[in-house]
Amino acid sequence: MSPAKPAPAPIAVPPQKGPSLFDERIENDSLDRIRADIGPDCTRCKLHKARTHIVFGVGNPKAQLVFVGEGPGRDEDEQGEPFVGRAGKLLTQMIEAMGLRRQDVYICNVVKCRPPENRLPEKDEIATCSPYLLRQLGVIQPKVICALGSCAAQTMLNTTQGITRFRGEWFDYHGAKLMATYHPAYLLRNPPAKSEVWKDLQKIMAYLGLDLPKKR
Ligand code: URA
Repeated sequence: MSPAKPAPAPIAVPPQKGPSLFDERIENDSLDRIRADIGPDCTRCKLHKARTHIVFGVGNPKAQLVFVGEGPGRDEDEQGEPFVGRAGKLLTQMIEAMGLRRQDVYICNVVKCRPPENRLPEKDEIATCSPYLLRQLGVIQPKVICALGSCAAQTMLNTTQGITRFRGEWFDYHGAKLMATYHPAYLLRNPPAKSEVWKDLQKIMAYLGLDLPKKR
């Protein structure tokens, strides 16, 4: 008999406490109201200095599935829409591989203005902007939130652990299900990781009752 495998180390991501996305929302909140509250020319954090457009979010306001990225890049800053550059094209392919269209899901970011030179958003910028993300999620009430990359995953799950430790696992997130997977920009640099992401997306498809590809 082969020796028993050691039990895997527990994933040290705490369950997210706080108000449910579904119960304790701002009364009559809406995506339009959140956008209006941000204002036409938000200066709440230093990211406003170099940005062209505030990139609010795009897609189905009643989506069952929301993708959350890190922050706008150059193309997104120019066009005012999330995930429209190279990484965005790959995200669109990922969505289509799930049998969905971009307009079926909702796509947004942790911060709504481009960090200069595409650096990581800083703590104070995330703290300032993420309440609007939480409100967006509260209005949309998705069944599943897919956090793309470390910044979104670590921000939403309030952890400093590396994403490799917990990607592909389900977490409860204020009453929704959250799964983290690798960011499409990482997949452009590291194409072999696409197979891991596809496994994660198939778990999301199964949870949402979407048709899985037939085994060949
Ligand atoms: N990367 C992100 O995290 N978000 C975008 O909108 C584009 C690229």
